[in-house]
Amino acid sequence: MEVRILSAKFDVKNSNQLKTALKHGAYENLDKLFAMQPAEVIEEVKKSGLRGRGGAGFPAGVKWGFLPKDTGKPVYLTVNSDESEPATFKDRYILVKDPHMLIEGIIICSYAIGSNDTYIYIRGEYTTQVKVLQEAIDEAYKAGYLGEKVAGHDYRVDVTVHRGAGAYVCGEETALLESIEGKKGQPRSKPPFPAVAGLYGCPTIINNVQSIASLPFIMKEGADAYKAYGTEKSPGTHLFGISGHVEKPGMYELPLGLPLLEVIDKVAGGVWKGRKLKGVIPGGSSTPVLLPEEAATTTLDYESMAEHKTMFGSGGIVVLDETVNIVELVQNLINFYHHESCGQCTPCREGLGWMKKITQKILKGEGSMADVDLLRELCDNIEMKTVCVLSAACTMPVRSYLDKFRHEFEAYVTENEPSVAEATEE
Ligand code: SF4
Repeated sequence: MEVRILSAKFDVKNSNQLKTALKHGAYENLDKLFAMQPAEVIEEVKKSGLRGRGGAGFPAGVKWGFLPKDTGKPVYLTVNSDESEPATFKDRYILVKDPHMLIEGIIICSYAIGSNDTYIYIRGEYTTQVKVLQEAIDEAYKAGYLGEKVAGHDYRVDVTVHRGAGAYVCGEETALLESIEGKKGQPRSKPPFPAVAGLYGCPTIINNVQSIASLPFIMKEGADAYKAYGTEKSPGTHLFGISGHVEKPGMYELPLGLPLLEVIDKVAGGVWKGRKLKGVIPGGSSTPVLLPEEAATTTLDYESMAEHKTMFGSGGIVVLDETVNIVELVQNLINFYHHESCGQCTPCREGLGWMKKITQKILKGEGSMADVDLLRELCDNIEMKTVCVLSAACTMPVRSYLDKFRHEFEAYVTENEPSVAEATEE
């Protein structure tokens, strides 16, 4: 089931070093690239059907087409390497194992969109990744693949690495831009969208690490070779992070469209310790949970996930076995999102705090059925009433747990209800 496109060099010793990367074909498409018109590059990427791998799944080539023409302002490329969605651990592999694939992708994208300056926004906790990436960038400058004349061609590409300070919300496009500009990392109201007014008020394209790293393969082998993997609407491969209660957790490159349960069984070794499956989080903590019977008919692509009222997200799959306490899981989830709220919208700042208190009350055995109802009602009232989607990243999964495992919340209430005898004592 596994394929090797993005991960082709991951097992090669010293694959992060330029010398090794060159031996395995890095930067060998640059003459071909600069012989093409930028519009032709965009067309090839559109034809490949490559979709943004950060979570939203928006077609990359189409996004590039939103840039306004001839504004007289510089165009910026920003690579989102914040990767802070819980259960997501794919971009870190690219950064450490094949940073030159990312740099080559940056050159391809920069030329296509007419940008000379790229900022890679990387999460602050990625200490090793920052070090390895910067070393690769330094090597690329020294060898002439970055700088004034990329590989001898009359085109400049400069790359700057910007470290975040550990805020989940800075993975949101506009909070990321604010953070690069040296401001507090808070999302902006949209419109205008970054393609029109992004970094320093200039047209900006923001793409995920994996999306950009997919470009060298598309340039070398062509759109049709990329589309040979995956499904018609979800082409290509993805680095799936499989974690939780499986025998073989890890990062696996797979074509899109494979049956979810087959991947859990055959690739990740199945649910551990012979236990039963209770649920699957399909694409990072913010995606609604799937029951085993739903997971049985789900395939790993954007369309199937939407049909099952969940999302492909970041491809961070978490397997939950029969021992998982769903109310505790929900408490953990709400704690995280409440902690990461930037605080500028009342429904998010106060609402998630309110949800946290109610869940604590239920867990302590002090909740009522009205509290369970209120928790569910809050999900509907908070969502989509805020500047960014962080609040929805919390309420969407919480709603799914409440709808699919309500009996577990109710059990905390009924098991602690006073008996008639206790209630009438005194
Ligand atoms: Fe900040 Fe939350 Fe509002 Fe997003 S939804 S802008 S994180 S307060």
